[in-house]
Amino acid sequence: MANLIDGKAIAAQIKEEIKTEVAGLRAEGIVPKMAVVLVGDDPASVVYAKSKQKVANGVGIDFELFEMPASTPEEEVLALIERLNNDANIHGIMVELPLPKHISKERVMEAVAPNKDIDGVHPINRGYILSNGPGLFPATPQSCVEIMLRSGIEIAGKHAVIVGRGETVGKPLVFLLLKHNPTITVCHSKTPDLGQYTRQADIVIAAVGKAKMITGDMIKPGAVVVDAGINEVDGGICGDVDFESAKEVAGAITPVPGGVGSLTTVLILKNVLKGLKIQLGRE
Ligand code: NDP
Repeated sequence: MANLIDGKAIAAQIKEEIKTEVAGLRAEGIVPKMAVVLVGDDPASVVYAKSKQKVANGVGIDFELFEMPASTPEEEVLALIERLNNDANIHGIMVELPLPKHISKERVMEAVAPNKDIDGVHPINRGYILSNGPGLFPATPQSCVEIMLRSGIEIAGKHAVIVGRGETVGKPLVFLLLKHNPTITVCHSKTPDLGQYTRQADIVIAAVGKAKMITGDMIKPGAVVVDAGINEVDGGICGDVDFESAKEVAGAITPVPGGVGSLTTVLILKNVLKGLKIQLGRE
């Protein structure tokens, strides 16, 4: 029976560290502040934005929500981002996705100043992942790494199999994880017989978006299983790993909910502080 990795407890620990750092900054007269831009009224985006606001306020980070109607022309969204880029009191900017169809996601992502891009989506930050530069990196792949580091899981020298090479999770994860010296295999939809790869893994990380597709018989006994998947089923959510069968075989496993996803918001807030330090020339 696997050890259950408690993402909520790890998130609470990170939250305390952020609180302490924010208190130090405030004592210096620096008030960290983030801005979230919400175009339209996608219900999930509204929930995500409000939940970030609550957590940010709880750690002492100021938060401002900029809501624009779905009909807002692209130029107006870009003009708002430009204004936020030039506002020295705003240290992090996040544009909630999805955007309405008439707005180019790429143009918006490229408009956010790289040192305020707390979602880690600007091409410059994607480049910094490869070069060890002072970049801001996306929260979910960071969560996959952080949840292992903080659970005392050894990564160096291990064989990690990442299932999924999506732009949001799998692909950036390859390079963030590689900094910790595992040997990495990346699997995707064209990989024949996925199980032959996952069964060789000391660490399996799932980032696919298919409910319960990785089953216990695809896991090497004692392996670490990290599940980044979020799939809506029966009014709740589940991961890409079939938790019930995998937990009987794995040595350690992250649940869904309560695993990787629990760290996302606090790691976005950590990005606000990292961005602030980059802006101040401290990083
Ligand atoms: P994408 O849809 O961009 O990528 C999915 C990847 O899975 C692709 O590389 C695809 O392969 C691969 N894939 C699809 N089917 C199979 C298969 N049968 N076998 C092996 N690989 C397959 O997903 P994202 O990167 O955006 O997200 C991945 C997961 O992470 C989703 O469940 C998403 O909900 C979750 N997520 C969780 C977050 C969190 O906060 N915890 C935040 C963001 C996402 P190919 O490249 O060949 O098409």
